[in-house]
Amino acid sequence: MTMTNSALDPAVAAAAVRRCRFCAAPLRHTFVDLGSSPLCESFLTAAELNRMEPFYPLHAYVCETCFLVQLEQYVAPEDIFTEYAYFSSYSDSWVAHAHAYVELVTERLGLGPDSFVVELASNDGYLLQHFVGGGVPVLGIEPAKNVAAVAVERGVPTLTEFFGQALAARLADNGRQANLVIGNNVLAQVPDLNDFVAGVKLLLAPGGVVTLEFPHLARLMAGNQFDTIYHEHFSYFSLLTTERILAAHGLTLFDVEELPTHGGSLRVWARHDEDHAKPVSDRVPGLLAHERASGLDHLDAYSSFAEQVAETKRALLDFLIRAKREGRSVAGYGAPGKGNTLLNYCGVRTDFLDYTVDRNHYKHGRYLPGTHVPIFPPAKLAETRPDYILILPWNLKDEIVRQLAYTRDWGARFVVPIPRVEVL
Ligand SMILES: [Zn+2]
Repeated sequence: MTMTNSALDPAVAAAAVRRCRFCAAPLRHTFVDLGSSPLCESFLTAAELNRMEPFYPLHAYVCETCFLVQLEQYVAPEDIFTEYAYFSSYSDSWVAHAHAYVELVTERLGLGPDSFVVELASNDGYLLQHFVGGGVPVLGIEPAKNVAAVAVERGVPTLTEFFGQALAARLADNGRQANLVIGNNVLAQVPDLNDFVAGVKLLLAPGGVVTLEFPHLARLMAGNQFDTIYHEHFSYFSLLTTERILAAHGLTLFDVEELPTHGGSLRVWARHDEDHAKPVSDRVPGLLAHERASGLDHLDAYSSFAEQVAETKRALLDFLIRAKREGRSVAGYGAPGKGNTLLNYCGVRTDFLDYTVDRNHYKHGRYLPGTHVPIFPPAKLAETRPDYILILPWNLKDEIVRQLAYTRDWGARFVVPIPRVEVL
């Protein structure tokens, strides 16, 4: 973010707060206010429990002009993303998803040794490695140095920089425009959306294609997935808003797919406006019409979301209060980012949840940020035999219920909080 001199005048600065990250209209409408919470990946060691913990507002607004749902940015991306603990390759299903995409896009665009593919936020090379294997030249762009180093070891050339117009112009000047630009789960994490999309336009070769994947706001709303709102995700997109953003930068959306990943995502395909060789698929106007029919082009549809979220909090607390009054024990399963949004918003600490378990060794012996619920290996469940197991990564509930079938031996019951509190 740049500071201009006018920002030093308090009156101007006050008027300048809270403007839409895309269209700069003033942000006057709350989508949902989840209170304050720590960054969702800031797990604590025992020694850190008695220290101050930074909390930031988790208040999402909706723009009355372009309907972009967004958080204000409180933490610089440099602080979140330069040393990052998330390695995409740890998730088998995500790597398989990437592999299937590479096969599909290679075939659809006829990519080969003369093509050039760039992925923005390429993480540890989980995706580009499949192009490298097929002999297609690639470049990854990944600001997190520790993660990028893994990609380079894997044979994926990677630049450790943040992407925007400056870097795109430098690549284009060096004759390195891309036939395919990929951005998976990066758009939400971009503080300067216009600089990023303008960079995509510059980087894209004539006749090139960009594909972007991101969680679909319509699914977040329909599925009551408020716990997927984190400080690290600055923006939440409908197709209507995405089309406007691309159009503002000379890009035409020509196809869209609905994917099951992350609770319901979109994959959009875009090209230069002037590239008429790629007709617009019927799926684009079809999904836009569906979003309009759901009211996503009017504020009313957004203003009812907050009450739905508040009701979910009341229902979860109702259940927990009842369970505790009946003398039941409740343990958690999983320590995902979304669990931290949920527990902090609902004020659920060890007074309700004895502990949680997770398969990630890094988290064992640590505590959830904000709520300080301890994290143990999954074997803890068989030791303490809780009456209820609250599944925090609800998107994986079928898989988890299968894995934990043995807990039925002592009559444990599973509870999911989202889309509504339900005992399975
Ligand atoms: Zn806007």
